Amino acid sequence: GDVLPGKTSTEAGKIEDRTLGGLLPDLAEFEPGVCASRSQQPHRKNYFQPSKELIRRLRRYEVRHRKCAGRARNFFHPQSQSEKDDCRYVVWIAFSGLGNRLMTLMGAFLYALLTDRTLLVDGTKDMSELFCEPIPKSSWLLPPEFTEEWLKTVNESSPQRFAHNSTDGGGSSVTADFSYIHFTYTFDHKDETFFCDESQDQLESVPWVFMKSDNYLVPGYYFVSRFNSDLGALFPDRGLMFHLLGNYLFHPSDAAWAWITRFYRSYLSNQDRLLGIQIRTFRPGPLPSFSEQLQQCILNNSILPKVVADGHSELKQQISGLRELKNGTTVLMTSLESYYYDNLREYYLSRPTESGESVAIHQPSHEGKQRTDNIGHDIKAWAEIYLLSLSDSLITSGWSTFGYAAQALAGVRPWILLKSEDDQVPDPPCVRAKSVEPCYHQFPIGNFKCPSKDAAHDRNSFAYLQPCEDVFFGAKLV
Ligand code: GDP
Repeated sequence: GDVLPGKTSTEAGKIEDRTLGGLLPDLAEFEPGVCASRSQQPHRKNYFQPSKELIRRLRRYEVRHRKCAGRARNFFHPQSQSEKDDCRYVVWIAFSGLGNRLMTLMGAFLYALLTDRTLLVDGTKDMSELFCEPIPKSSWLLPPEFTEEWLKTVNESSPQRFAHNSTDGGGSSVTADFSYIHFTYTFDHKDETFFCDESQDQLESVPWVFMKSDNYLVPGYYFVSRFNSDLGALFPDRGLMFHLLGNYLFHPSDAAWAWITRFYRSYLSNQDRLLGIQIRTFRPGPLPSFSEQLQQCILNNSILPKVVADGHSELKQQISGLRELKNGTTVLMTSLESYYYDNLREYYLSRPTESGESVAIHQPSHEGKQRTDNIGHDIKAWAEIYLLSLSDSLITSGWSTFGYAAQALAGVRPWILLKSEDDQVPDPPCVRAKSVEPCYHQFPIGNFKCPSKDAAHDRNSFAYLQPCEDVFFGAKLV
């Protein structure tokens, strides 16, 4: 078969729609044989359909992208731009871990959709080896003239840094005019004025916008009046923005897909239900209280079957035999450590479940530590995010964009393990997410004022912006 086993793509002979309800361009538009993950698109049980308006906007975007991407070299030949075409760009600069990159790249793409720009991706990092090209007959990678060296010069000290009024929107003698939007952790309140109407008016006339961020900025776009109404039309359900645009943009490269399908076929194909568990503690070494927290989350919420209690010693010795095997639940666990996997596996091997169901637990890798931009490491990270996104239900770790990416691609509201402040198990150990959207961690709450507004912006301005379950000062779309 040409789809992942266990996820049959056809129901009663019905031909599967490989465009995800019109979200993706027709397969025939792409060069044949270049991106197996696109033609072998697995069936996502929790996939939500895009709006007509979004489909229309994406097709319009693709036409523009094909026209403009090839002209990006003109950036370094500003004089030859005297005839001035109508191509304007947003350039995404790679920063931080893979989950963060997926958030910020999706955010840059949405900005391109909202402002009629063309998105170009920093190709100096692993990105080109991890993902397929999303736009038919075109590339989303910056041409090689944009070297790693040169991209490094676009940083918080650049005179082009937006709202830091040195040469806003100005170029240099050797480049076209550009602005740099700075949202890595050293951002300040001036950078946040990016979310003001007048800033967006000003940026209209700037042909090139560079963006570097480690935050999911999308909830902030709602502060810009004209983006707000546009977003309402494109995403009648605001909690599905990353779900839809993520599924539009992020298709595993053949190298990543080969890894994903090998793992899936060997470990995940034989199941009734797939539970994904993503463990991220943000510090090295095992954390026993987190293992305890995971177990409490699972049992309090009946996420996995109960094992027989100590009082039932006769049941404890119950032998289920080796015939008439049922599939049961399969758990895909991901973590930099193997400790949490060992504990949970041990728990389910040491006693039978009350229902007799089996629980199989697998973890693809335990890399020990983050090694972003090492391709072997990044392929595993991307493969694991993708595999998690095939789960029927999810438990994720608070604060982690790795988990956000998986839940949003899946369309599954996860149980979020809350971060403990004191190495004790928090009460409750986990909460159910209100939507599948990622959290904007450093959301600007009442910190900055736009020139045209009397009051400072506020998270409470919009009912659909709510505090994140895991980061109380953050905001997410619900
Ligand atoms: P965040 O730091 O949790 O928000 O997620 P990021 O993905 O931005 O950065 C963490 C990086 O650490 C990942 O991109 C991986 O390189 C690595 N990493 C963290 N957790 C895992 C995991 O469960 N599996 C693998 N393979 N890598 C992980």
